[in-house]
Amino acid sequence: METLYCQGCGAEIQTTDKNQPGYTPQSSLEKEDILCQRCFRLKHYNEIQDVAMTDNDFLSMVSTIRETDGLIVHVIDIFDVDGSLINSLPRIVGDNPIILVGNKMDLLPKSVNKRKLMQWLRSQAKENGIRIKDVFLISSTKGHGMEELTNQIEAYRQNKDVYIVGTTNVGKSTFINRLIKQSTGYSEVITTSYFPGTTLGFIKIPLDDHSTLIDTPGIVNKQQMAHYISPPDLKAISPNKEIKPRVYQLNAGQTLFFGGLARLDFIKGARQSFVCYFSNQLPIHRTKLENAEHLYENHLGELLSPPNEKTLEKLPNLTPSDFRISADKKDIVFPGLGWVSIQGNGASVTAHSPKGVSVSIRNSFN
Ligand code: GDP
Repeated sequence: METLYCQGCGAEIQTTDKNQPGYTPQSSLEKEDILCQRCFRLKHYNEIQDVAMTDNDFLSMVSTIRETDGLIVHVIDIFDVDGSLINSLPRIVGDNPIILVGNKMDLLPKSVNKRKLMQWLRSQAKENGIRIKDVFLISSTKGHGMEELTNQIEAYRQNKDVYIVGTTNVGKSTFINRLIKQSTGYSEVITTSYFPGTTLGFIKIPLDDHSTLIDTPGIVNKQQMAHYISPPDLKAISPNKEIKPRVYQLNAGQTLFFGGLARLDFIKGARQSFVCYFSNQLPIHRTKLENAEHLYENHLGELLSPPNEKTLEKLPNLTPSDFRISADKKDIVFPGLGWVSIQGNGASVTAHSPKGVSVSIRNSFN
């Protein structure tokens, strides 16, 4: 078969993988001006859908961003900051300014301190070597924070192009679709919006006469929990409405299981509350530390679920990390799953997470 290219974004046409750039159903191959499914949907339904790429493919493809002059909008998921921050971003974007957008704010309980959350996002970006100009918190589905963000994008971009980058599943498409609606109105289809592509896998969306928004493929991050689990399990761990914190009064020698995907052992310290921020559908199971191993070995995938069978095929083993919490209240963070707030007072805990998805600790948001 001769090599075909999408007339919209320039990606090489393929008919095998829906999630990769250039996918077109076999039945559309005969058309004259061939479009990949993503460009087709944008042209006819005014809607962006995500495609995925690995970090390395992305890196080799996006030197164009480094060479142009634009504003980078890096969308991350506030429930999976470690899994959604792109460490290679500075290499990808060169000297272009970056603003960080924490999405899915609607899922956080009202009690969460937004100022602390923003501070933490700044520090996480810095730790990962990403220099950011500003940070914003939004909800793409509910529209919270979108107006301020759009205004600030306008101010920061100084008539330059805007590149939207993010790992898969952070809500990049939902975000862009909202931007499109906000700018073009619901009824106006952006048929003129589509440019014969020069940049592989990039989609250009003119928002008005002056501004072009560029959607880039979602980057696959191997550290993401989402990477290891099956679609139904991903649904079970992803919160779909505001999280209700679940509080457990624990004595030393007790353990909490989060499904069978993570575990927190209270090793030493005074009786205290463990406040758990996870999807309301994720079952939390309390047991004695001395029974924890046995429970895990015998009831993983049953009492301790998710994981379901499909996930079990690829889920790495749980590995422990020890933490001692001195005076200040801390959050033990299980990337992609949620976190547990602990008063501390000299407590020792051991957190178990699938190998490759490392647990971290931060000052509490509450
Ligand atoms: P993409 O892969 O980055 O393009 O992500 P999508 O836009 O497809 O979104 C991934 C999932 O996150 C979908 O189930 C969305 O409904 C959900 N999502 C996206 N934005 C938000 C948000 O602001 N709040 C909530 N609760 N869910 C969101």
